[in-house]
Amino acid sequence: TLHAGIVGLPNVGKSTLFNAITQAGAEAANYPFCTIDPNIGMVEVPDSRLQKLADMVHPKKIVPATVEFVDIAGLVKGASKGEGLGNKFLSHIREVDAIVHVVRCFEDENVIHVEGNVNPKRDIETIDLELVLADMESIEKRSERTSKLLKTGDKKAQGEIALLERLKEVFNQGKGARSLTFTDEERDILKGFSLLTLKPVLYVANVSETGLATAADNPYVQQVKAIAAEEGAEVVVVCAQIEAEIAELEADEKDAFLEDLGLEESGLDRLIRVAFHLLGLMTFFTAGPIEVKAWTIYQGTKAPKAAGVIHTDFEHGFIRAEVVSYKDFVEHNGINGARDKGLVRLEGKEYIMNDGDIVHFRFNV
Ligand code: GDP
Repeated sequence: TLHAGIVGLPNVGKSTLFNAITQAGAEAANYPFCTIDPNIGMVEVPDSRLQKLADMVHPKKIVPATVEFVDIAGLVKGASKGEGLGNKFLSHIREVDAIVHVVRCFEDENVIHVEGNVNPKRDIETIDLELVLADMESIEKRSERTSKLLKTGDKKAQGEIALLERLKEVFNQGKGARSLTFTDEERDILKGFSLLTLKPVLYVANVSETGLATAADNPYVQQVKAIAAEEGAEVVVVCAQIEAEIAELEADEKDAFLEDLGLEESGLDRLIRVAFHLLGLMTFFTAGPIEVKAWTIYQGTKAPKAAGVIHTDFEHGFIRAEVVSYKDFVEHNGINGARDKGLVRLEGKEYIMNDGDIVHFRFNV
């Protein structure tokens, strides 16, 4: 499951958005092994292919892929120095796959802005600075360790020191690790650093109820978009308050409500879609009489690793994958029809999964 951490200054609409997420929440019965944590909201990834598959397979249940949003409220100015709940929050961010940064783009004199006025650029810089400072600290610690290793003549330490120096330099300019480019070797080393400023970021521009229709002309939204473009990040425009209202509706009411607003999908669904894109994720399916289920993997994942998402035993004991594309499955009314046409393939360890593959793994236990 993809984990996204929601950050942003106080009073920008994080809780409102998070409440919408928990309201829209996934059906708990489908995910019996998930822990209940008030700071985590789990939502299902909308995917119309699931219903199509179910219409042919008639499973007992349909289980969509999920995204977990972690509420990381409390990241305030000075967090890296232990202000607010400081470091505790920073450590939560270390564990997520992506950062969802909520930025206030709505004016409302009844809602105090901690810095006095709405200014997305300054707000983004404030949060970014905390993340940079936190990374600086972890790099310092790392440098001490690596320097000691260097004295013992450790070859790997040499490459690491050079990388650490480059990182220090950008951090000193107040910029994140994201602004650098790295070689594959460096990327490998970086995995051990778990830097906050290396995590992919998705900005949520939170506009007012009336601002949704005119968001493209909103100068605050434009500011966010400009920053995102520079960083290669993505922007989703939402109105958190409307999302909270949508989350309370039944599916059919939701469609009517969205249509009234002239929207094709909710901000939350868009957020999930963009997060998938940002992280280079894709979906494969398992389809049987018990359940039709969507699984999330990175693009370019090979069959054994994909099997491991279902169960580690599937990966270790991997023999072959029986694969049929979604298109072939649907066109021939299910696995038997596709098999008759020779469209069900037996793939080995080197097979790279495709989006929408319907798979049956064969494995040794
Ligand atoms: P947080 O501190 O970032 O979690 O912010 P909250 O979600 O608690 O929101 C702060 C205040 O802003 C609350 O009074 C919300 O009702 C209000 N708010 C949040 N989103 C919107 C919005 O889209 N439009 C307007 N007008 N107010 C909002």
